[in-house]
Amino acid sequence: MLIMAVNTQQYQIIQNELLKDQVQLVAVSKTKPNEDLQALYDIGQRAFGENYVQELVDKEASLPKDIQWHFIGHLQSNKVKYIAPFVYLIHGVDTEKLLQEINKQAVKNNRVIDCLLQVHIATEETKFGFDGPALHELLLSGRVANYSNIRIRGLMGMASFSEDQTLLSNEFTMLKSFYDKATLAFPDGHFNILSMGMSSDYQLAITKGSNMVRIGSLLFGARNYSK
Ligand SMILES: *Cc1c(COP(=O)(O)O)cnc(C)c1O
Repeated sequence: MLIMAVNTQQYQIIQNELLKDQVQLVAVSKTKPNEDLQALYDIGQRAFGENYVQELVDKEASLPKDIQWHFIGHLQSNKVKYIAPFVYLIHGVDTEKLLQEINKQAVKNNRVIDCLLQVHIATEETKFGFDGPALHELLLSGRVANYSNIRIRGLMGMASFSEDQTLLSNEFTMLKSFYDKATLAFPDGHFNILSMGMSSDYQLAITKGSNMVRIGSLLFGARNYSK
């Protein structure tokens, strides 16, 4: 019996669900083999999310050229150069140092790189991102405008690793309110992406205002990190 790792039926169900709310799906394919990505590509998916630079570079080289590659992991400054030539959207920009480096590499590649600022909304200290005051300060300062080759498209956040719906709901609501405030700092209309929600909490995230969800295990099955 052939076991399909990719759940294409689930994909169609989720896509129909998202379509009615005009929410964009990023298929999170980290640790998954190229065949799994190709299977979703073949039924129309173009936005894929990866967490690891080397893995992303390898996949980009061997998969179709019209894939939109989202980098959703924690990005180290010294690795920006490897993805700068092709990355479609960087979700996890969490320091100004990283903004500077992305801008530098974008200039070198003669392109503008779209980025989301990551906001720390979870209870866990281990998660990355600007806290509310730091985000506010950065946006009010006007320093973002110095980065000629970066376009800030919106915010990204990860809720706590928890099943407490009230906690998750409060975290998503907090991120949405940061997003609404930040929108005022970008009157040109390009600031319009709120990336929140994963396999376990995307429906809740959408009710709280998400317009981009990052879904992995629901589509590709559980990940195996032991390899
Ligand atoms: C892995 C990952 C996801 C997808 O997680 P699932 O629970 O498999 O949907 C989403 N966002 C980020 C930042 C991730 O690292």
